[in-house]
Amino acid sequence: MNVELAALALAPGLAVGSFLNVVAARIPLHRSIVKPGSACMACGTALAWYDNVPLVSYAMLRGRCRHCSAAISWRYPAVEAVTALLVAGAALRFGLTWSFAVAAAFCAVLVAVSATDLERRIIPNRIVVPAAVVLLAAQTLLHPSVEWILGGVGAGGFFFLAALAYPGGMGMGDVKLAFLLGVVLGRDVTVALLAGMIAALVPAAVLGVKHGAAARKMTIPFGPFLALGGVLALFAGHPILDWYLRVL
Ligand SMILES: [Zn+2]
Repeated sequence: MNVELAALALAPGLAVGSFLNVVAARIPLHRSIVKPGSACMACGTALAWYDNVPLVSYAMLRGRCRHCSAAISWRYPAVEAVTALLVAGAALRFGLTWSFAVAAAFCAVLVAVSATDLERRIIPNRIVVPAAVVLLAAQTLLHPSVEWILGGVGAGGFFFLAALAYPGGMGMGDVKLAFLLGVVLGRDVTVALLAGMIAALVPAAVLGVKHGAAARKMTIPFGPFLALGGVLALFAGHPILDWYLRVL
């Protein structure tokens, strides 16, 4: 049943991903996400609908603008594909429920802020703050409990203290993103934070091996790793937390 729903969710998931590309490109520049329509970032030519079809147009154009041949970033099809898979995964996991709507919205926000953090090293307030407010309200209405607000305050507070202790390592954007993870995941946010921190160690170690002491001055955006941890906790937080507590 949910398998069919997940398959049906792929196409709207691609459309959401396409919209997230617009959000990620324009919100940091304080531009409207409604108009004008999409245009080539290099030559400014407005895109015809057939050059703006998720995944398909990128493949047909072989990653280049039809008019000026400027390369189109691989992030565009990547955002579309990842969003579609996450929305389909949420449909598979939660079925056609309000929890699916929360999960899909949560994943969409995580994809958007990962894209802005990778590209510009920012996690825009104009995305993460309204998302946290709406999703906190939704979770509290769907499953009345203080778990959601406590999860947000706990995760955000933990990162806030970490940011004070190591000012170079983490930004306030990461603090707000941790708050967002907490209000959606509740107690499972511990899984998200731990997984995110472990995942971020991998590129840090690679930089260290490649560049030695110079790597200390290089920074990696933390947002995408937190987002990865958030997705893991969304889909498998309960079993992972249970397993962890049993091992302890
Ligand atoms: Zn162009």
